[in-house]
Parts: sequence; C-alpha cells; structure tokens
Amino acid sequence: MTEVVLSDELSEELRKIYENMESDYNEVAQSLTFSCDGCSDNCCDSYFLHHTYTEWAYLWRGFRKLDDSRQQELIQRSKQYIVACEEAESKGERPQVMCPLLDDGRCSLYTHRLMVCRTHGVPAAMRRPDGKVLHFPGCFRCQAIVKKNFPDDSQAPQVERTPLLQRLVGVEREFIGEKLHLYPRVKLTIAQMLVNGPPSIPTAHCSRPGKQNNV
Ligand code: SF4
Ligand code: SF4
Repeated sequence: MTEVVLSDELSEELRKIYENMESDYNEVAQSLTFSCDGCSDNCCDSYFLHHTYTEWAYLWRGFRKLDDSRQQELIQRSKQYIVACEEAESKGERPQVMCPLLDDGRCSLYTHRLMVCRTHGVPAAMRRPDGKVLHFPGCFRCQAIVKKNFPDDSQAPQVERTPLLQRLVGVEREFIGEKLHLYPRVKLTIAQMLVNGPPSIPTAHCSRPGKQNNV
C-alpha cells in the first residue's frame, strides 16, 4: 500500500470548498435566525461515516501538525471511540459517542474538520448522480424553527449542496486518479480515519519492489 498525500493545490481547493460550504450554511442560518448558541445538545456525538480519500488526507494534514504526545492521546481516544461504537452496534443501536477530537467543547482539528461537521444543522438538498434529490431537514432545533415559520417545510430556505459536492468529487478524482472506482470505498468514522493511519491505496503492480517497470 502507498500513502496518498494531498498536494498543496488540492488542499487549497478543498479549503475553498469548505469555505463556500460555510458561507452557504451561514446565509441559510441567518435567514432562519438559527444558531447553535445555547443549544443543550452537541452534534459532535452524532454518528457519521465519511466517504472521500480527500477529506481523510486533509484531516491528516491537520493531525500531523499536532505534537507527538497530543497525537498519541487522540489516537488512544479514537480507539476507545471505535470500541464504544462497536458495542452499540452489537446491540443493534446507532452509536452515540462523543467524537474523540472534542476537548472542552472545542474541536481539536477545527480547521481540518470534515464536511459534515460544517454543514449539519440547517435544511439542505442534494441531487445524486442518478437525478434523485435528497432532502435533509436540519437538526431538531432548526426543524422547530421551520415548523413555526413556514406552512410547508419546502418553503424554507435551504442549502443547495450539489455544486460544492460536485467540486469535491472533482478534487477526489484528481487526487486518486482515474482508477478511483477500483479502490476500496471509504466509509469511515473520524476515529477510524485516525487509527487506520493516513489514506493509502494498493501499490501499482509495476512499482512493487523487485518488479521491473517494463510493461
Ligand atoms: S446543529 Fe442543532 S442540534 Fe447541533 S449543536 Fe447546533 S443547534 Fe444544537
Ligand atoms: S471533528 Fe471536530 S467538529 Fe467534527 S465531530 Fe469531531 S469534534 Fe466535532
């Protein structure tokens, strides 16, 4: 296996995508007069799986900036998180375990947190490649605001996620290359992304040690 490392250019492109996601989110949040202030809940215990090598590698760019002891601490916590999730799943429950990166209400890798961490909360829609449109109603507090102010949920403002997700898919293709469809699909929690190490893909047959590059 060979680690795939995100170039500075692709990192910058992902940073811009994240920035645009946050500004789309803020626009909808403002028009709904919605914010997380005073919320008794904390979404960082929501169970989410993440699906791109790009975000996985970007998370690792942030993780590597931490000193060794901090990295070890977060890896230890991530291992405990994985065990707790497995226990819940073995009982047929959806895991609800606090993210190992949360410290005193603050994200340890805030600037490198994943897309879901930046978009969960307000209503959103996304068109899948097969044309089906998926709707996300937002968190329970936001849903209450929508119910109170709109006769029908569909009249509420929402984030249109499709264009930015398409840009993310473009970065993923550029990052991993045309063989993306041949590699294992990413379906990991943040804790698994840390414990598993940075993303890697199978080493090309022609570049394995001892194999002559003559084909
Ligand atoms: S997204 Fe909603 S549920 Fe989550 S912290 Fe914010 S207000 Fe609370
Ligand atoms: S990565 Fe940060 S923002 Fe995302 S769930 Fe974990 S602590 Fe919360």
